[in-house]
Amino acid sequence: MADLHPYLRELPAVDRLLKEPALGELLERLPRKLVLAAVQETLQRYREKIIAGGEGGSFTAVSDLSPEKLAREAAALARKQALPHLRPVVNATGIVLHTNLGRAPLARAAAEAVASIMEGYCNLELDLEEGVRGSRQAHVEGLLCELTGAEAAVVVNNNAAAVFLLLNSCAAGKEVIVSRGELVEIGGSFRLPEVMAAGGTRLVEVGTTNKTYRCDYEAAITPDTAALLKVHTSNYQLVGFTASVEAREIAELAHAHNLLAIEDLGSGVFLDTTRFGLPPEPRVQDSVAAGMDLVTFSGDKLLGGPQAGIIVGRRHLIEQIRRNQLARALRVDKLTVAALEATLRLYLDEEKAIAEIPIWRALAVSLSRLRERAAALAAWLRDCFPRLEVELLEGSSRVGGGALPTAELPTMLVSLRAPGVEPSALAARLRGGSPPVMVRLQQERLLLDLRTVDPGEEALLRQALAAALEEA
Ligand SMILES: *Cc1c(COP(=O)(O)O)cnc(C)c1O
Repeated sequence: MADLHPYLRELPAVDRLLKEPALGELLERLPRKLVLAAVQETLQRYREKIIAGGEGGSFTAVSDLSPEKLAREAAALARKQALPHLRPVVNATGIVLHTNLGRAPLARAAAEAVASIMEGYCNLELDLEEGVRGSRQAHVEGLLCELTGAEAAVVVNNNAAAVFLLLNSCAAGKEVIVSRGELVEIGGSFRLPEVMAAGGTRLVEVGTTNKTYRCDYEAAITPDTAALLKVHTSNYQLVGFTASVEAREIAELAHAHNLLAIEDLGSGVFLDTTRFGLPPEPRVQDSVAAGMDLVTFSGDKLLGGPQAGIIVGRRHLIEQIRRNQLARALRVDKLTVAALEATLRLYLDEEKAIAEIPIWRALAVSLSRLRERAAALAAWLRDCFPRLEVELLEGSSRVGGGALPTAELPTMLVSLRAPGVEPSALAARLRGGSPPVMVRLQQERLLLDLRTVDPGEEALLRQALAAALEEA
């Protein structure tokens, strides 16, 4: 070994490195364990490099392995590892609901509600008036009923859990009829047929991929049928010759046969999306009014709240769901309840909801405002980085997150090209920055869409851009 890799012997010892000023200073602020691990990892990287033949073939001088240099690298690694793993990210992709970026950012009121609850005790399951045990659902149920017109509501971990719990509580051991055009898969791990099987119900598929009629449902009803289930095709769209059965007709048919009418709305929304130039997305209150007995939807899609699955509907059914042994396994924690309650309160005044819930601010912002903001950013970039190629391009933003898959919102993009730097390399540098910035890469261009960047985040975005471009 020693003969093969003489440089291995030149590697400084751990204790020697810890005496370097770069690391000594860090040891005062960071846990020793963390600094030590970074030193060991740095040395290990060098050992591997040396064994593999050194940097670009071989080391040229022993100075490559100087304690100063290694300590600086170890210090940089330690500083990076001291950052929280889960961190705020600037979303310049223009995808409003980005599942990888945590879906909906919370409204200020929701974030403040979470902050006020989390450090102390709270009345999560306490009825303050009577001084007796209460339900964690009580904090949001009234608001959900008010906003949707439903008799009762229950909130669980997410919409996948809501669909599962609902089927398991109301249709276990029985058949549930679903249109072949609505057997959705969401994000790979939510496939309706599998969720139904896990919930203990038998899926009865009716109709064809593109067309399903009322008579298809009717013909499939047997004494074993428990429910007709309608699923919103939230992440795809059938175009061409298609037919599906409206919620109202499903409800009528189900009730005529003494069956339950259930709808998985996916996103769920309280506002009329056409107001924002978007295609219509079914509103929760419309499904309730159409006679659906139970309706499920997500908290963090177009509601713009925390991750949650919400079930609204008839009181006796909601009670049956709450009594399910599995309800506890899927229940929400106090932080979710706090964020959801505050978000729902904003919807009591629609204009307030649009002004204060980040996803609605992003969806409602005008093209002219986006143009102004993009032009200001482009001017700043040209000013600070004269060698950069900066252009403004028309484009479109997307809703994302498994909602309104074909909707395109016109936007103004800032396109960047740094001479001699691949757009993907620049994107990687931005991703590695502080804060990390996520951008769009399209046809050899790096694109920034300010629709999803809150004006309050723009200073941070500029700072991160400057850091990445100075390196370039
Ligand atoms: C998104 C979605 C789900 C899953 O919701 P989560 O809150 O992500 O668990 C289920 N059904 C449909 C139709 C959806 O769009």
